[in-house]
Amino acid sequence: MRHPDKNLSGCPLHFYMLAVKTYSYNRLEDIQSAIKAGMLSLQELVAFYLSQIQNLSDLNAFLEVFSEESIQKAEIIQEKIINGTAGKLAGMVIGIKDNISYKGHKISAASKMLENYTAVYSATVVDRLLAEDAIIIGRLNCDEFAMGASNETSYFGPVKNFANRNKVSGGSSGGSAVAVQANMCLASLGTDTGGSIRQPAAFCGVIGIKPTYSRVSRYGVIAYASSFDQVGPITRSVEDAALLLEVLAGRDENDNISSGKAVPEYSRFSKNTPKKIAYIEETLNSEGLDPEIKRNIEGQIEKLKVLGHIVEPVSFKYLDYVVAAYYILTTAESSSNLSRYDGVHFGYRSEKATDLESTYKLSRSEGFGEEVKRRIMLGTFVLSAGYYDAYYARAQKVRRLIKEKMEEILDNYDFVLTPTTPGPAFDIGAKKTDPLEAYLADIFTVIASLTGLPAISVPCGTTEEGLPIGIQFIGKSFEEDKLLSFSKDYLEK
Ligand code: GLN
Repeated sequence: MRHPDKNLSGCPLHFYMLAVKTYSYNRLEDIQSAIKAGMLSLQELVAFYLSQIQNLSDLNAFLEVFSEESIQKAEIIQEKIINGTAGKLAGMVIGIKDNISYKGHKISAASKMLENYTAVYSATVVDRLLAEDAIIIGRLNCDEFAMGASNETSYFGPVKNFANRNKVSGGSSGGSAVAVQANMCLASLGTDTGGSIRQPAAFCGVIGIKPTYSRVSRYGVIAYASSFDQVGPITRSVEDAALLLEVLAGRDENDNISSGKAVPEYSRFSKNTPKKIAYIEETLNSEGLDPEIKRNIEGQIEKLKVLGHIVEPVSFKYLDYVVAAYYILTTAESSSNLSRYDGVHFGYRSEKATDLESTYKLSRSEGFGEEVKRRIMLGTFVLSAGYYDAYYARAQKVRRLIKEKMEEILDNYDFVLTPTTPGPAFDIGAKKTDPLEAYLADIFTVIASLTGLPAISVPCGTTEEGLPIGIQFIGKSFEEDKLLSFSKDYLEK
């Protein structure tokens, strides 16, 4: 395991740190008002986040901190706020998952394969953040190539959960969740292929939304499984999630699957009316569900009823198939996407290679970690002649059935509710030896991934041990506005 360069020494940070005050903001709006009222300067706020990152570096959330750059930007944007020329996100200090390109900055996908790779262009989502004056404070640890649910597959080591340092952060956007949980930045970007925004958000007691597939451009985001991947925000408030999504979403000519549908003003929040919500019966009766999570979610269902919503059980008989379908399809897609890392085009090249074939073999064997190699092999297998029909083609059919069933349920209901995860954050190391057990923990999040539907995880309490619990609401395609308005209301009640 490599220790990332935290890049904190030799910068003006030490100067600032002499008199750093502590801040705990949950909403950008509050930061902007405080700055306008002269009660806060953006320089002070950035200095605070930088000191927090340094003080909590044992959590291993950041792979690199853009200290000097952030300090410089703070000065410029502070001016803009004062003279009224600042963008929507002025005052927002944000971290980005290490699979999102930021021109001139390293991007490694938490892999040895790309350890020394520098992005040659910025992802569309990064350009959009910067155009609205957000400050990108650093890049965040994650599972290698976003494959995992505990951040333990990272070449740079696991991220620790701030609620309990012996527990995993969740993954794959573990650094993104912990950075927000531990107040090292106001918000972060993650990516979600099968739950990687929602699951770590649930484990860390923060908010994470996976938008409808194609709502947000993936240009400049390192591909894992292209028919699933989406970028989305992790935040401390629904207001910030809405604001960020509003900035990130929308057509991008560089990502030809990105949707041209108009982007609603999510941050205006529509008026809330009583909703019809379905909960999947099988999720609450599933064998692997932790009793504390079950009790909590049953309590949430009662709370929603008391609030005037109609909440009813529905049957979803495909629950036992979702994990298998997800892993067959995503490993197939990833085996294709990761074929570009061959020791020639990008990244790591083995020093022991003597010819073309050994360049491919050795670079890939040495550059990728165990989990990534397992998935490439699985994916290659399910796509191979003779097995294609039995696995890949069948999984595609199952995906269609799951999609149709979910759409049928959503014809009669506004949202589908499930626990975000079957259990709370587990001990670091506990699931490392049994990949199947780890895959099964994705059971509730992959439903929205297979169907492309938008889904949000919001915190709904803690276990007796103090570990956060998340509840997931899945909405209709492109109805993030309803999901966000409802979630804001739900958290306020
Ligand atoms: N845990 C899931 C996986 O390992 C999800 C990962 C993700 O959404 N990037 O594939």
